Amino acid sequence: MPQRRSTRQVTVGDERTGLVRIGGDAPVSVQTMTAGYTHDIDACVREINSMAEAGADIVRVAVPERKDTEALPEILAQTSVPIVADVHFHFKRALEAVEAGIHKIRLNPGNISDRDQVNSVIDACRERRIPIRVGVNEGSIIERKDKQARAQELGKFFADRKGGHLIALMIAKLEEYLDIFDARDFHDVIISAKSMDPALVIDVYTEIADRFDYPLHLGVTHAGPRETGTIRSVVALGALLSSGIGDTVRLSYASDPIYEVEDGIEMLCCLGLRERRGVELIACPTCGRIQVDLFKLVQEVRTTLAEKIDLPIKVAVMGCVVNGPGEAEGADVAVFAGDRRGIIYVQGQRVANVKEEEILERLLSECLAFQDRVKAGDAKLGEKNVEIVPPDPIGDLGSGIEKIQAGQVEQITVSAPRR
Ligand code: SF4
Repeated sequence: MPQRRSTRQVTVGDERTGLVRIGGDAPVSVQTMTAGYTHDIDACVREINSMAEAGADIVRVAVPERKDTEALPEILAQTSVPIVADVHFHFKRALEAVEAGIHKIRLNPGNISDRDQVNSVIDACRERRIPIRVGVNEGSIIERKDKQARAQELGKFFADRKGGHLIALMIAKLEEYLDIFDARDFHDVIISAKSMDPALVIDVYTEIADRFDYPLHLGVTHAGPRETGTIRSVVALGALLSSGIGDTVRLSYASDPIYEVEDGIEMLCCLGLRERRGVELIACPTCGRIQVDLFKLVQEVRTTLAEKIDLPIKVAVMGCVVNGPGEAEGADVAVFAGDRRGIIYVQGQRVANVKEEEILERLLSECLAFQDRVKAGDAKLGEKNVEIVPPDPIGDLGSGIEKIQAGQVEQITVSAPRR
């Protein structure tokens, strides 16, 4: 991974919740947002606590009405993760949320733009040392009535980019807004600039990263249900994070927000930006060689191990022994299915050959026993994997090893793609 972009750092939270740092050398954090009404205190608390349990570092709540900010003290008292108040249209909701002890405010320049109102929020936040996210959204920056005229007028800006006029508008809006914060000498700021278009998200954040040194909250907004939302979000956020851009993330799904947390964490683990807690599952996609109900087995293994294993054990569930061992390289525990049976390996040692219906139970017991050995210091994760025998040369082709050993494979350094 490339070096992370250097930014200022802000701190969110308090003694009770613990402090989450965003930007600078802090790890990339994962956020989500409650889906229910904030004034429904019990439901909101339940939602926030299950999000925290799933691994959310920060949770945002909407506060459209006075009754929502009135609910905040009770919600804050019953939860233990930093909470952000999402404020639109009514700056007083921000002041009320600050008064209630909220940990961070999100303002939208598209709907709270009065300088005096913004100044009053800045002053209240400064007094309580609360950071503010300035979140421009593609959807709320354009006066809808002259959308087309604006697009033409601004077409020359970033003309080589899809939605270039929107990028220009989002940056202009941000610059204007942040001038208010600069004039107040307030720099506890995080920036976001979301769109539903992943390509635009990549471009606009890349431009912003070159212009400001505030930490960036990444997201593709209104990304759809989990099925499409994952792809849209991970395409854009993965590209940005791979370029060192991004300090906190939110995946937005029209679905249970717990998935946003789970997928956000998985994305960071895949990019090497977060240490994995719990099992890393490798599974084959199956093909015509399959002889067990692998999809069912994989789902059962995933849910069962997620509950019982808290170490990052690599577990492979493979459909056959033809390609399985090669594809399971690096696994601590592996099962190769075939002929309605499963052969189980633990760190390269074959430990069992069981019937299909016994695979899950035996795999679980082997994983638990291996976890105990690792915890006791008698085994090490990733130490002895499934033994991989390089393929024999086929015809005129070697296995690849000869070419490397003969120095015919040039070493290259992969540099981060910058757009
Ligand atoms: S492991 Fe076997 S069953 Fe699974 S995709 Fe590979 S060859 Fe097919």
